[in-house]
Amino acid sequence: MWPEGKRAAAALTFDFDAEEVWIAEDPANVRRPGVLSQGTYGAKVGVPLILELLARHDLRATFFVPGRVAERHPGRVEEILAGGHELGLHGFTHRSPARLGDDEEADELDHSIAVLSGLGAKPTGYRSPSWDFGDHTLGLLAARGLLYSSNLMDDIRPYRHEPSGIIELPVQWMLDDAPHFWFDNGASWPKKISTPSEVLEIWRAEFSAMHRLGALFVLTMHPQLIGRPSRVEMLDEFVTFVRSHGDLWLATAGEIAAAADAALNVRDV
Ligand code: ZN
Repeated sequence: MWPEGKRAAAALTFDFDAEEVWIAEDPANVRRPGVLSQGTYGAKVGVPLILELLARHDLRATFFVPGRVAERHPGRVEEILAGGHELGLHGFTHRSPARLGDDEEADELDHSIAVLSGLGAKPTGYRSPSWDFGDHTLGLLAARGLLYSSNLMDDIRPYRHEPSGIIELPVQWMLDDAPHFWFDNGASWPKKISTPSEVLEIWRAEFSAMHRLGALFVLTMHPQLIGRPSRVEMLDEFVTFVRSHGDLWLATAGEIAAAADAALNVRDV
């Protein structure tokens, strides 16, 4: 499935949620600057630190961006595109498709495609808010000519959804920064915030085992979480470790989905 000589593949993905994740949680948060500032950090500090790290490693990543975040922070989205990174869909608001009707979900998709396209992107992939699907999500993606989804946890390699034909790039909670680092002024109080070294240990171990199996390692991160200074340093260390594997194909999610699409077509014929 991977380019010649490559044993396994990996994609670094960032869900650039900014304020929208908090607004989707409770629309009243729009009047709570203290709450929203947690997301604003991602746009103000997190994304620039991440872009600097990626440029230093000469790497391209995938940023899934809600349409409303792109409207609120167009300059940041332009910087992401200028860095050669891929822009993917992540809803218009950050509401889970499982909570939307079909028409609302279709409107969210169309509206977000229009906003990202207006900034110069050509999105081919979809990461749903909360990794949730509605009843007809895959069909809605296929009807808009999209190539891939990166939302489900049932495999370690890409596969094709039928009958939609959409390619899935599987994810997992352990390879997401949120379960390790998320904290808010609510139900999080009994929860410990993981140290960067604990998370580095989890990610390294899972990467090594997946690499041995020739799998696809999709890392899901959020600028408001991974963008804290000590965590950016941890990510730098992790990226250096990943790049020490000469037989690894480190690419954008879109590039990996295109390769999987071609390989899975050949097998089908
Ligand atoms: Zn998100």
